[in-house]
Formats: sequence, C-alpha cells, structure tokens
Amino acid sequence: MSEEWIQGTVVENVRWTEQLHSLRIEADIAPFTAGQFTRLALDVDGERIARPYSLVNAPDIRPLEFYFITVPHGPLSQRLYALNEGDFVWVAKRPAGHFTLTNVSSAKTLWLLSTGTALGVFLSILRTQEPWERFERVVLVHGVRTSDEQTYLELLAEIGAAHPGRFHVIHSVTRPGGASQPENRITTMIQDGRLEAEAGARLDPESCQIMICGRPEMVSDTLHLLEKRGLAKNRSLTPGQITTEKYW
Ligand SMILES: Cc1cc2nc3c(=O)[nH]c(=O)nc-3n(C[C@H](O)[C@H](O)[C@H](O)COP(=O)(O)OP(=O)(O)OC[C@H]3O[C@@H](n4cnc5c(N)ncnc54)[C@H](O)[C@@H]3O)c2cc1C
Repeated sequence: MSEEWIQGTVVENVRWTEQLHSLRIEADIAPFTAGQFTRLALDVDGERIARPYSLVNAPDIRPLEFYFITVPHGPLSQRLYALNEGDFVWVAKRPAGHFTLTNVSSAKTLWLLSTGTALGVFLSILRTQEPWERFERVVLVHGVRTSDEQTYLELLAEIGAAHPGRFHVIHSVTRPGGASQPENRITTMIQDGRLEAEAGARLDPESCQIMICGRPEMVSDTLHLLEKRGLAKNRSLTPGQITTEKYW
C-alpha cells in the first residue's frame, strides 16, 4: 500500500543545542500507540526525502512532537533543523512499528535504555498510564555524549513527581567536558554492576522487562550482554524480556 501523506504545520522548533532540536507539528494523523513512529518528509528538487521518526507526545496529546539530531550531511535532518513556525512538512498519516508495551509482559521493573534522540520514544510511553499500571518501578537510562545533551529534564522531573518513588532516571555521559570516558557507557555500567546499584533494581529474567532503543551498536552490545545473563529477546512465538529498536 502506498504511503498516504498529509501536510503538517510546524508550531514550534525548540533548538536545545546546535545539533539537537524538537519540532512540534500540527497534523491530523491516524491514532497510534505510544512507542510507534511515523515518517516525515520534505520535497527537495522534486524528490520527496522521507525518514522515520518516533513520536514523543503521548497518543492523546497534541501537537505531535519529534526529537531530532542533525547528522553531518544528512539530507533530511539538516533541513528539519532549519524549519520555523508556520513552515510545512509532510507527515505520513499512519504511524507504524512494534516497539510498544503491547507485546511486553508485565514485571516488577521496566528498564528503558536509550541513547541520544531515542529518549523521545520513551517519553511517549512514560506519559501513558500503561507502564504505571503494569510495572512497580520504571528505570530510564539515557546515554549522551556531553551534559548539554541531557534534554527534557523538566518533563522527566514532572513524570517523576507524578509517580513518587517509582521512577528512576540515570544519565550516562561518555564525554563529560569533552574527554572520552568509555567507562560511562551503558554497556560498561551493566558489566561492572553500577547500573543496577544506582537503580536499586536487578537486570534478571525473573524481575524485569527491558526495552532498548537508539544507536545500533549500543542496542546489539547490550542485547548480547543481557543474553549472557540468561535474558532473552522478546519474540512473538517465544516471549522473552528484551525488546529492541535500532535507529539506523
Ligand atoms: C524506527 C526509527 C525511528 C527513528 N526515530 C528517530 C528519532 O526520533 N529522532 C532522530 O533524530 N532520528 C530517528 N531515526 C533516524 C532517522 O530516520 C534518520 O535516519 C536521521 O534523521 C538522519 O536522516 P538524514 O536524511 O539526515 O541522514 P541519513 O542519510 O538518513 O543518515 C545518515 C547517517 O546518520 C546517522 N544517524 C541516523 N540517525 C541518527 C540518530 N538518531 N542519531 C545519531 N546518528 C544518526 C547514521 O550513521 C546514518 O547512516 C529513526 C530511525 C528509525 C529506523
């Protein structure tokens, strides 16, 4: 089936840094489940350049919101950064994707592991009731390079205040002050036990479900580490504890 495009209007472009920004867009898309993505596109020299982007707003919140990084020479991301209030952008009418809580079993702890802009997909999920009805605790881990990439702090604080004692946020900053500190990678923090110690929760098959999203290397490396601990990928015929989505 061919993609159905609708015209969206930018209502705000929040530029967090020179590379990171969020677009708020008015567009009448079809209903979606938190965790899904839709496609955004711009017409450049007669060609439509389209890419998938996770929705950051919860399904019942408007306008739509997306969180981006501009990648060097990226044909679409560079242009999205330049958009201003009132500009048009194509939005695919029907969101898609399986990175939702629908196929994730209930458990004591829900771990949400993200790098960079993948934080956004979890902000949508966290602003629905489902995680709070189905899990005792939620631990969100956000891996960034530098501390100015720690965005959405106010929203995270609001989510924490709405669920006292049940929401724990951990930032892993791999280049604080510019110097590389690989020991702060999410994978290293799992290996040396720091992540579990900071969260006060276990990464084990008995007590948790884990959703991982973002940089492909982080997703694969974390998956392998957790598989060595006896956790398994969540598949439709053989449910496990780990659900993943890669951004490229
Ligand atoms: C399901 C899904 C959801 C996505 N959601 C988001 C989102 O919410 N926000 C977002 O910024 N991107 C997201 N992406 C990536 C996005 O679709 C584009 O790939 C990205 O914006 C770059 O587009 P481009 O045309 O500028 O460059 P492209 O030519 O498409 O990409 C060039 C290169 O940039 C790198 N890259 C791509 N995306 C990222 C990223 N997010 N962080 C760091 N490096 C990257 C990769 O090395 C890629 O090969 C998602 C991808 C998928 C598959």
